[in-house]
Amino acid sequence: MSDIYLKEKQEVLRALGKGEIGLTTQEAKHIQREKGYNELIEKKKKSVLCIFLEQFKDFLVLILIAASVISAILGDIESAIVIGVVITINAILGTIQHQKAEKSLNSLKQLSAPNAKILRDGETKIIPSREVTVGDIVYLEAGDFICADGRIIDNASLKVNESALTGESLAVDKQDIEITKESPLGDRINMVYSGSFVTYGRAKFIVTEIGMDTEVGKIATLLKNTAERKTPLQVNLDQFGKKLSIVILLICVFLFAISVWKGEAVIKAFMFAVALAVAAIPEALSSIVTIVLAFGTQKMAKEHAIIRQLQAVEGLGSVSVVCSDKTGTLTQNKMTVINLFVSEINENVKNLTFDLPLERKLLAYSLLCNDASHIDGVKIGDPTEVALVDLAERGNNQGKMELGTVTQIREKYPRIYEIPFDSDRKLMSTVHQIEDKIIVITKGAVDVILEKASQIEFDDGVREITKKDKENILKTNLSYSTDGLRVLGFAYQEIAKEEIYNITEDNMTFLGMISMMDPPREESKAAVEECKMAGIRPIMITGDHKITAAAIAKQIGILGDKDKAVEGAEIDGLSDQDLIDYVENVSVYARVSPEHKIRIVKAWQDKGNIVAMTGDGVNDAPALKQADIGVAMGITGTEVAKDAASMVLTDDNFATIVKAVENGRNVYQNIKKSIQFLLSGNTAGIIAVIYASIAGLAVPFAPVHLLFINLLTDSLPAIALGLDPHSLGVMKEKPRDKDESILTKDFLMGILVEGFVIAIMTMSAYYVGLENSGEAAASTMAFATLCLSRLVHGFNSKSQKAIIFTKEIVNNKYLFGAFFVGFILLNTVLLVPELSGIFEVTALSSELLFTIYVLALANLFVIQVLKWVQNKIKAM
Ligand code: ATP
Repeated sequence: MSDIYLKEKQEVLRALGKGEIGLTTQEAKHIQREKGYNELIEKKKKSVLCIFLEQFKDFLVLILIAASVISAILGDIESAIVIGVVITINAILGTIQHQKAEKSLNSLKQLSAPNAKILRDGETKIIPSREVTVGDIVYLEAGDFICADGRIIDNASLKVNESALTGESLAVDKQDIEITKESPLGDRINMVYSGSFVTYGRAKFIVTEIGMDTEVGKIATLLKNTAERKTPLQVNLDQFGKKLSIVILLICVFLFAISVWKGEAVIKAFMFAVALAVAAIPEALSSIVTIVLAFGTQKMAKEHAIIRQLQAVEGLGSVSVVCSDKTGTLTQNKMTVINLFVSEINENVKNLTFDLPLERKLLAYSLLCNDASHIDGVKIGDPTEVALVDLAERGNNQGKMELGTVTQIREKYPRIYEIPFDSDRKLMSTVHQIEDKIIVITKGAVDVILEKASQIEFDDGVREITKKDKENILKTNLSYSTDGLRVLGFAYQEIAKEEIYNITEDNMTFLGMISMMDPPREESKAAVEECKMAGIRPIMITGDHKITAAAIAKQIGILGDKDKAVEGAEIDGLSDQDLIDYVENVSVYARVSPEHKIRIVKAWQDKGNIVAMTGDGVNDAPALKQADIGVAMGITGTEVAKDAASMVLTDDNFATIVKAVENGRNVYQNIKKSIQFLLSGNTAGIIAVIYASIAGLAVPFAPVHLLFINLLTDSLPAIALGLDPHSLGVMKEKPRDKDESILTKDFLMGILVEGFVIAIMTMSAYYVGLENSGEAAASTMAFATLCLSRLVHGFNSKSQKAIIFTKEIVNNKYLFGAFFVGFILLNTVLLVPELSGIFEVTALSSELLFTIYVLALANLFVIQVLKWVQNKIKAM
């Protein structure tokens, strides 16, 4: 149906079945069975087998397998089998980890999948876009993504950005008209196309094509699976890992040469060197980061923050400025009308009798220029407008609104045309047939409304508006705002029929004002305080009036005595350089436009900060992209804003951002713990081997020992540390410097020292074994001690501080689990005689076994003491 734009609207509606009443769920399901879901088909996912095989693609692992095959041919079949089994188990664990991480990332993707507002079963419903099908009636408003191709059947100033399809970045005006001659896609103004988005206005369309049949589906080659982009931390670790691998390989070559020189069989020495390289090279670093980040995002999702990009979790840890909207984020977005102002009289609604005709007129107009509705006890729409509906209903219940209920008034004076509310213009206008007149009703910010008014209505009639009237109105507006109230002004104008679709909103008659209260969220104050304690600067950026914003900001602690509240326009005159100095003192920006938001974010970033910025409208998308962490509102936010953001709040709450920062900091700490654990353990193994070589001892470990240790410690305890319980203490520290590498000198020093301690215990065990029963027992002792020490070391890695006598040491059940699994497997290898040949261990006396336990446990005490001393020195 590529020529559908040439067909008459009625013809399209008829052709697609049910016309304007839309489909029933049953019918939709039926069509879906035939046409499939409304989605672009992704490239086939990798199979589990493919992922499993990928675990072997590591060059060293392949060499190791080759070496063990050769050694099997030469007669050592047993160890070849064991090496094969250990490597296979490792690959299975790797596959499981990969699948788990993938699953949790996929479930996050589902959480942030786009929705569409449609008519189904005669009701307006919001459903996932993939379930929209041909024949559905879809509603569009500013900020919506267009989910399918379709013919417009009802239109109110719709403007659509179709750049994804046509490359044209200017929004296109859409119209519900007939097109008679063939036109290129960009000129088919009676159609909307999937992949574009609404920048302005409202419309209704009937879906004509879905999924791969849409225009975008036709041009899209198969979508690549969103490439797993590595986070900065992963890139950093990969680079470090590469350098470390070279060092380890050099050490292994050196050890191989020494062994051969000492007369060891080449294949044996080679196999040992490769096994050491496999065990010591921390190939798991980057994947551990993915897993810990993915688990972190699951926790965040439960706490109302959906992470759309893994990088955001890392970035959250170093956020130093949070720029937040006011309405709904810092406040409850539950509006109640407080005052009415008409004819120079200010009336508190508590005392409102609805007796003044002008008050009733203001209320009636406030219902007409209003999209909120109240159906069966459910209030739908913008809370600002719902508050107006609430008040008018109260009047009607008291029998004072002679015009009747909301529905009756709207039916009596139907809307002929509208210019929807736009937070840039801060205005909304609707055109109605009222009796025999055509009236434009405009509501919006009082200052903007006053600019448009040339007359004013009083009880006794309409006259020119004077300077004094304006001063009086502004004075009242100021007093409302000082109380933190949000104020709307109302004006109207009679126009001629020809002007209906060309209204100018000028020469209007000022009718009155309505003020409403939107109390701060209860949790906002504490969250702001927590931010400040954590070295994060909270900033309010709002479209509301400056005085209202300042009053609320004061209540919740954002605006301190020395901070300034300014209007967006005040920064227009500043150069970018001047703005960098200026932003430091400003905590509240009012009446801002999306361009202001971008400049404010940039200025803070140029000062070296990591900035989180909230947004909801379609015009906020560039600012959300500019911010390091763009935060979109899940409830009130548009699909476009959500798409541009790296985090979506499902409760639109400022406190959730602070909680997410806390989670981000903790996740980063946990990643650090895992890395420290992995690297210090590997270091211990290498030090022990180098020492043995220098001291002229026999190699302390067989290749199978190294691989067994690698298997037991590289996965479970490292992941368990990544899941360490979060600590509240992280919010008492300053934000992490954005350029700070995780691998600081201190961090690497810590790894080296801990590696040394574990190596000392390992070699002590070796000597005890050597003294008591010879080389075979020495090797078994060294192997068992290194293995158990690394398991014990998991508890050391929980904190940079000494925590041995605190509850913190025992608060991670996963770590205990990993420890016990490892402990049991190790003891099975040591104690089951049938396994001794395979694992190249000898039977040990109970004294020697006890020595292993003591030495392994000693790591805990020694390293804890070292941590304690180090912290004491630091504190001095
Ligand atoms: P924030 O950016 O903190 O969410 P906000 O919601 O107060 O701020 P906007 O929605 O941009 O900001 O509103 C700006 C101004 O527009 C308000 O101060 C009010 O005067 C006016 N306004 C808000 N909602 C409407 C509406 N539905 N119709 C007409 N005018 C409105």
